[in-house]
Formats: sequence, structure tokens, C-alpha cells
Amino acid sequence: MSILPIKLYGSPILRKKAKTLTEISEKDKDLIADMIDTMYTNCGVGLAAPQIGVSKRIIVVDVSTTENSTETMVIINPEIIKTRGEKMHEEGCLSIPGTKGGIKRSEKIKASGINIDGIEFEVEVDGLVSRVIQHEIDHLDGILFVDKLSEQERTGMKNKLKHISSLARDNVDYYATAKKEDK
Ligand SMILES: [Zn+2]
Repeated sequence: MSILPIKLYGSPILRKKAKTLTEISEKDKDLIADMIDTMYTNCGVGLAAPQIGVSKRIIVVDVSTTENSTETMVIINPEIIKTRGEKMHEEGCLSIPGTKGGIKRSEKIKASGINIDGIEFEVEVDGLVSRVIQHEIDHLDGILFVDKLSEQERTGMKNKLKHISSLARDNVDYYATAKKEDK
């Protein structure tokens, strides 16, 4: 499968409400495999389809408990059906490289969705996985973590966001370029 360029902050697709799937085609399954490859290659813990340029309600989340185990959760048409508690924690996003901010989110959630075989399921999670699922579902609704920061925090990031937007406008494959510069 393929590693696809990540859509950066400023790309219009990141602001669109993604479409609900009514069936899972072979093409969708290929897309999911690409999402997983792209997430791991870029050391992400989660990825939403719009981040690789497809406006569909699909998210992948790395739910491995240790560094050596990789376990990926795929949720199609994910929905949060129950929340409990609140917690503030630092967050970043592959689409907004080099930025981080403290975001308040539900501590525990119960989410529902469909797996790759089209079977409905529910999960109850807390900690990082809960946070990542909430972050990725936001992507499907065109919401980015920086939207949730205070005015002051966002102002502090203004130049960085402006720079990332200019890369998005030029369709820069940020992570491929960064890797090349490493060598
Ligand atoms: Zn993100």
C-alpha cells in the first residue's frame, strides 16, 4: 500500500464535513490500508481520512499499549455516544506540524462505529486512546485542535500557522520533504 502526503492546515478539505459511508468498497479498504501506513510512517497515533485528502468518515487509531506492539483500531462512521469526566492534556496534529497545545477533552468515552468488515461495534476507552478518537472525529467535522485553544494561544501560533498555510497552498508534501532534509 502507499504512504500518502498529509494535508496541511489551510487545506480546504480539512474544513469540510466528511461523508458517512453506506457501504465499504474495496477502494475504501485500500484507503484504510494507506491511512494506516501513512500514520505509522509519520509516527502518528491517529489519522482521519480527510488528512490524506479523502472526505469520508473513517479514522484509524493506534491503540498499542507498549512501544513494541502495534495494534490499530479502524472506526468507520465513528460516533461518541457517552462521555465521562474531563481532562486537559497537550495535543498536536500531523496536519499542523510543530505546534502543540493543551486541550480539554472528555476523559472517558464510549464510541460506536463500523469495522472494516462492516460490523457495528462499541468501545469504551480512556486515556490517550480516548483523546485521539475525539481528536480524529473532530477532523471529520472540519474541526482542528487549534480551534479549541484560547485566543491568546492561537495568536502566539499565528506565524507558524501562516507558514503551514503557505505550504498547504503550494501543496508541499511536508513529511517527505522533511525526511529528505534529514539526510
Ligand atoms: Zn489531527
